[in-house]
Amino acid sequence: MLLDSNLNEIKEGKRITAKGYAVQHKDDTFKPFEFSRHTLGESDILIEILYAGICHSDIHSARSEWHNGIYPMVPGHEIAGRVVAVGSKVSKFKVGDYAGVGCMVNSCGECEACKASNEQYCERGMVATYDCKDYCHNNEPTYGGYSNNIVVSEKFVIMVPQDAPLEKVAPLLCAGITTYAPLKFSKVKAGDKVAVAGFGGLGMMALKYAKQMGAEVFIFARNKNKEQDALKLGATKLYDTTDPKIVIERFDLIISTIPTPYDITAYLKLLKLGGEMGIVGLPPSEVDPKIGAQGLIFNAHKKVYGSLIGSIKETQEMLDFSLKHKIYPETEIISANQINEAYENLTTGRAKFRYVIDMATL
Ligand SMILES: [Zn+2]
Ligand SMILES: [Zn+2]
Repeated sequence: MLLDSNLNEIKEGKRITAKGYAVQHKDDTFKPFEFSRHTLGESDILIEILYAGICHSDIHSARSEWHNGIYPMVPGHEIAGRVVAVGSKVSKFKVGDYAGVGCMVNSCGECEACKASNEQYCERGMVATYDCKDYCHNNEPTYGGYSNNIVVSEKFVIMVPQDAPLEKVAPLLCAGITTYAPLKFSKVKAGDKVAVAGFGGLGMMALKYAKQMGAEVFIFARNKNKEQDALKLGATKLYDTTDPKIVIERFDLIISTIPTPYDITAYLKLLKLGGEMGIVGLPPSEVDPKIGAQGLIFNAHKKVYGSLIGSIKETQEMLDFSLKHKIYPETEIISANQINEAYENLTTGRAKFRYVIDMATL
């Protein structure tokens, strides 16, 4: 067993061997890859990864669509697993506990953002779970969750109860927190009118959370294919954005999950005075939508902001909220050798659900 040899490595203070799936360059397909992770520090835990979700960001990163990626690259920032070893100063976890890791594995810990528990907005930059130089470990590249294990400082690990459905917990750690955080930031309350633009995986989560918070929710989608799904999940109405018919509603909050080019100003017009638009969908750089002074001034006293995942504290709150109210993404379990096929389906829009890799198949 590889994990037994990991325990020996820890005893001997050695680096921890790992295996997973990686791409070697931006046009590559995923193939098995062996590598090592940093030694177990006194505040670190070693997690045996049981499930890892595939996020659309993984595809953008693997293909260098946002910035030049660091290769070989093992993506994956939706990780759920079991603790198999803990460092001498670890207090939150013990061996056998379930644990989750999301989009970051460290931050400077000293800046104002970090001190205010907003590690994702660290002034030095958070250490992302993969495709990042880890300045806390000699700038070695980080490797993500498409693998059998991960070593993380306990401060960046989410506690997962023993009875939680782990394959559903994994995608919550990115898709869940990404949509939960702006709803909290905009202080959504019962009776608010919330619109969700884009109805893929993120849009579906935004709808479920906003409904649970008591809002009335409207969906904007490119067609009516998913109208029944939206209504079944409690949406009041689904607007087809290709239909020129005038939208009569005005919203307190619009959450945009759209990952392709679109007209931000057109959505601003739909906000009530004082309304807010939170943007979480991230299109590739060359088609990034723009908003200008005119669009803002002629839609005055409305606020537009971006939201990037959420803090560790908020991620824990999101997970507890999701488990309590049974709010989960729709998932499809795949084996590790199906990653390339999953990417293909996600790129061509054929994927219906969040793919989650069962690491027992590695
Ligand atoms: Zn993600
Ligand atoms: Zn910081």
